[in-house]
This record gives sequence, C-alpha cells and structure tokens, in this order.
Amino acid sequence: MTVSTRRNPTQTQATVDRASDGARPQRLIVLGSTGSIGVNTLDVVRHLNETGAAKIDVVGLAAGRNIEPLIEQARAFDVPAIAIADEAQSPALRAALPKVKLFTGPDASLKLVEAIDATDLSAAIVGSAGLAATIAGIKKGMRIGLANKETLVAAGAIVTPLVREHGVTMIPVDSEHSAIFQCLQGAGVGCRVSGVGSEAETRNPKPESRAIKRIVLTASGGPFRTASKETIENATVEQALKHPTWNMGPKITIDSATMMNKALEIIEAHWLFDLPGEKISVIIHPQSIIHSFVEFEDNSVLAQLGPPDMRTPIQYALTYPDRPPGCSKALDWSILKTLDFEQPDFERFRSLKLAYDVIEAGGTAGAVFNAANEAAVAAFLNRRIRFGRIVELVAEALSAIAPQPADSLDTLWEADRQARAFVEQRT
Ligand code: NDP
Repeated sequence: MTVSTRRNPTQTQATVDRASDGARPQRLIVLGSTGSIGVNTLDVVRHLNETGAAKIDVVGLAAGRNIEPLIEQARAFDVPAIAIADEAQSPALRAALPKVKLFTGPDASLKLVEAIDATDLSAAIVGSAGLAATIAGIKKGMRIGLANKETLVAAGAIVTPLVREHGVTMIPVDSEHSAIFQCLQGAGVGCRVSGVGSEAETRNPKPESRAIKRIVLTASGGPFRTASKETIENATVEQALKHPTWNMGPKITIDSATMMNKALEIIEAHWLFDLPGEKISVIIHPQSIIHSFVEFEDNSVLAQLGPPDMRTPIQYALTYPDRPPGCSKALDWSILKTLDFEQPDFERFRSLKLAYDVIEAGGTAGAVFNAANEAAVAAFLNRRIRFGRIVELVAEALSAIAPQPADSLDTLWEADRQARAFVEQRT
C-alpha cells in the first residue's frame, strides 16, 4: 500500500501531527470489518491514506464467521492480526494467512484488542457481542469510533463512566449522533461522554444540558412508514429488508423497519449526550438528508445535512477535528427541492414508547431491551415469528424481567441472558 504524506490545505495541526509525522500514524483496529460499517470504514481508510489526508495503519480486524472478505481485507491492508468468533473457521484462516496473528472463539475480538498496540478502535460489531472488546479499547485509552449502538443501550451505565475515567475520546458513528455531536461542537457546547467535551467546557463553563433545550433525531420511517397496522403486523422478511434510503446490515435494517433502531438511538443519545428522555425527540424525515437537530435554549436550531452515506460520519470519527476532502457522496443542491417531515406514529410503532420506558426504568432495562430485540430479530429472520411479534416480545420481556441496578457487567450479562432465554422460549 502506497501512502502519500502530501499536505492538504484543509489540514489543521492535529492532522499534521497524525498524518505527516511518519513516526506516528494512527493504528486502527476495525471490529466487524466484514459488515456494512466495517467495509465502509476500510474504504474511508484507503481514501485518507491515498490522498495523504491521514496515515492510518490497520493493525487488527475482527469478524464473526465470514472469512472470505476477512482474508481479502487482511491482504489488502497488510494487517498483522485478525480475530474470528467462529472457531471452525480457524484452519482455513491459518492456511490462507500463515503469517498473521490469529485470535479465535467467542472472545476473539476482546483478545485482539487486549493484545495489539493500537490508537484507534472502530467498534462496528453488531449487537452486544461488541461490548467486551469496546470496553477493552476504552480501558486501553484508545480513541473509539462507536457504531455499535447496542454497547451503550445495554451497558451505558458502565461504559460512560469508564470513558470519563480513562479520558477517552468516543466519537459517535451513527449518523444521527454524529450530526448532534457536530452541531454541539459547532456551537461550542461540549459532549459529556467524549473527551473532547472537556476542551469545549473550558470555553463554555456552563453545564451543557443547560444550553440544550432538546435534540431531535431524524428517522427515515423505514419501509413501513405509510403502511397500515395490519400490513406491518404480517410483513415478510423480504419486505422488511427493503430499506428506502440506507444500505445496511440485516439486523439494523429490521430494526429500522420496526423503528427499534430509532428506539435504540434514543437510548444511545441519552447516554452519549447525558440527556433525559424528555429532551430527546424524534421526527420522521423520509429523505434522510438532515441527520438530526439540536435545539438550544435561545430557540436556535442547528442541523447537520448530507446524503445518506455512512462514509461521512465514519470519516469524521477518524479525522476529528479535521475535515479533509471526503470520499462520500456530496449533496446535489441542483436536485434538492423539498425536505419533508412527519410526526412519528407511536401507535403503529410501539418501539418508540418502549425506549422512553427503558430510560425511565434505568438499571438493567436497557440490557433486557437490547437482548430481547436481538433474539426476536433473529427469530424473525429465521422465519420463526411474524414481524409484529418482534416488538410484542420485547415489551413482554421488559414487563417480565424486573430491572436491577446496573452495578456490574456481570449483572448486565445476566439480564441479557434472561431476556434472550425469555424470547427463545416463546419463538
Ligand atoms: P453487519 O451485519 O453488516 O456487520 C456486522 C459485523 O459484525 C460483521 O463484520 C460480522 O462478521 C461481525 N460480527 C458479528 N458477530 C460477531 C462476533 N461475535 N464477533 C466478532 N464480529 C462479529 O452490521 P452493520 O455494519 O450494519 O452494523 C454494525 C453496527 O453498526 C451495529 O451495531 C449497527 O447498529 C451499527 N450501525 C450501522 C449502520 C449502517 O449503516 N450499517 C448505521 C449506524 C449504526 P461476519 O460478517 O463474519 O458475520
């Protein structure tokens, strides 16, 4: 791989420190490298290296079981270490990549993060399977690009104090949270969780929550935005996997169809920006051009816009605070005519209400909510339950499993286990 160190006019000193000093490249581990976010992340890395906007060495990759793209990525980026959760794949990996250090088994990505010297972690495993490795990255003081929202939904009570304790910069990759993060930075208001907040707090000593009236997460509405309750109840796997604006992995695509994705994002925002449920709203915006809004106490509203292309927030997480030229699509102002908005329908999409219940309940409720949803989505994708049953099962699990104080990871894992067992017994 050829890496140019040509200086770009948009680079600030921070980029220059990272990119042009050959002795200090960013050393990146990509967890979930074979998935939609992982592939886009490597695309952005290739672009930044080729344009000389950054120098990023990919020093580790982790995947679940999909070895063909993993082998290709390891070769293309000359990666010294990889992890695979499915142990059965290790002989084939060893044969294909004899010189690469290999970690295998359910905790392979955790072992990879613990063993490899890296500065940056892209947390893009799907589901709570990504939690342990992300926590390991935080404890090692790595800069975290967080796509894996389930980490905060299930374990925000443990993860956010750890981020502060270790002085870690955690930058959201989810487009809505990246938008809010960018609006807060633009307004000089800090973000509680990420290490960059402390920098902004020096300029603005008021607690951030006093300046923010509310944040408004935009939602495309998914494939069933205009569908009747009856159609939604019995939607097929094929219908639910057809997202109108985003091209994503299967789990998050189903989450978008149930609007569980927005529910998970409400909880993610609660932890990330330290805001109560009543300061987090949702608005349907079918074009997915505005990625979210921040409304301030003076009634000003800031928004961040861009086409629905995850490479923009991924790049921002990798290059913050710089904005070198991107490889994502640019907004085509010549065809942009209208931006539409609708109120969310809490009747057809009960998942949204559940998110506020989970924030209110606190403790292990987030872990139950997340795990029940993961198990129910898997059951739907395996055609064991109808579409409408997903949200019903999550609601039933929340009622049946009383929240406990989230005082340790073991407690959260126990709640996760109970929720999965609850759903599995009923599917
Ligand atoms: P995908 O299903 O496309 O990819 C999931 C990745 O996780 C794959 O690389 C998969 O490996 C890997 N994986 C699964 N289980 C394990 C495991 N036990 N150990 C190690 N790796 C594992 O998902 P997405 O890329 O769509 O989403 C990833 C995360 O990002 C999710 O949390 C999602 O909510 C979030 N996100 C995604 C967005 C998107 O546009 N896709 C937008 C915003 C957030 P394998 O391929 O081998 O199965």
